Amino acid sequence: MEGETKPKLIVQKFGGTSVADTERIKNVARRISETKRKGHHVVVVISALGDTTDRLIELAHRITPRPREREMDMLLATGEQISVALLSMAMHELGHEAISFTGAQVGIVTDSAHTKAKILDVKVGRILEELEKGSVVIVAGFQGVTLDDQITTLGRGGSDTTAVALAAALGADVCEIYTDVEGVFTADPRLVPEARKLESISYEEMLELAATGAKVLQLRSVEFARNYGVVIHVRSSFSEEEGTWIYDGEERMEKAIISGVTHDIGEAKVTIFDVPDRPGVAAALFQALAAENINVDMIIQNVSEEQKTAISFTVSKEDLRKAEEITRAVARRLGAGEVTVDEDIAKVSLVGAGMRTHPGVAADMFSALAENGINIEMISTSTIKISCVIRAEDVKKAVRAIHKKFGLDKGVVMRA
Ligand code: ADP
Ligand code: ASP
Ligand code: MG
Repeated sequence: MEGETKPKLIVQKFGGTSVADTERIKNVARRISETKRKGHHVVVVISALGDTTDRLIELAHRITPRPREREMDMLLATGEQISVALLSMAMHELGHEAISFTGAQVGIVTDSAHTKAKILDVKVGRILEELEKGSVVIVAGFQGVTLDDQITTLGRGGSDTTAVALAAALGADVCEIYTDVEGVFTADPRLVPEARKLESISYEEMLELAATGAKVLQLRSVEFARNYGVVIHVRSSFSEEEGTWIYDGEERMEKAIISGVTHDIGEAKVTIFDVPDRPGVAAALFQALAAENINVDMIIQNVSEEQKTAISFTVSKEDLRKAEEITRAVARRLGAGEVTVDEDIAKVSLVGAGMRTHPGVAADMFSALAENGINIEMISTSTIKISCVIRAEDVKKAVRAIHKKFGLDKGVVMRA
């Protein structure tokens, strides 16, 4: 019976599509209201309306190709400020007490890496005070503040991380991530209609899925969840169906060899030719990139010919201009040759904890690509993941082929 359920503290996060227009905002308010009526305490995190963040980025680029990152954060943080205020009003309309806050107001303290800041501390005093009064607390996702009062943002998809960080700091019972699909699938359901929804998945596997492109959760939110044991429930804003549970519990876990196939078209490849083949060269290049907060994903170095080699690496397209500039400067310093960039690449990955004990998974993945005439340009592996860089135009074909090769389209769960 409803009246008998023990009150819980629930963090609910709604993504951009879930609050794309005023009707959807009202729909979100109704969902929160249902949870509230069951007697639970609710903290809500929301994203900017629809594609607001994309539109703000476009606006900035109409002014300048290289906006300063501090100003980008000032601009992008406005998106979420709009949505929290509107949602709070919608809650009032339904007769609930609710109050909206920016990240800075509640005290989401971050480092000063503008546009991809890391959360250092979450102050919960203000939130607890409001919950005590019976209010629904609505916090702007994706943003924080540095110790010297600079507004920061947490990188694309950062509202997920705001939600999980709040759930961790508040010791919430569950962090519900409401989005535009019904959960975490064996592949992006928009690319592979036959993809299957996973009932549950471990932090470790979700980390790899997120790291390799399943943008349903921002990578850092999963790291937070694992580090603090936050139980995440990814589900749809538009249905009552159970979604996917993310936690480390043995009993309900599906012991599949493969959890899913992911793809990422957000990376670009940088190549530096005729690099002198001597100790310290790679260190010089990658230290220079790290010093500017640029994450390098895959790296390959060619076989050396006549004491010269070529190094290729991938970075996020958002960092490409900066990475290119730095690489050119390092190339000049080292006496290396030409630097080229290639934006038409995609990364496809296969993730699964059972891979550890199943040799032959990589070979099957490569043959799925070969059978479809898809060339592999770079490969990287970890104990539970294999990634291949291919041409961007082949991405859909590749994901579908790999998904099929492993029987994921038939709902076959190969058990470890
Ligand atoms: P939100 O705005 O709610 O944060 P996002 O667009 O960031 O939503 O993330 C949800 C999207 O993630 C889905 O629409 C889907 O296309 C995509 N996606 C990619 N891979 C997966 C996957 N394996 N499972 C579910 N969704 C995925
Ligand atoms: N609005 C931000 C973005 O579009 C943050 C988020 O939605 O999680 O990336
Ligand atoms: Mg998102």
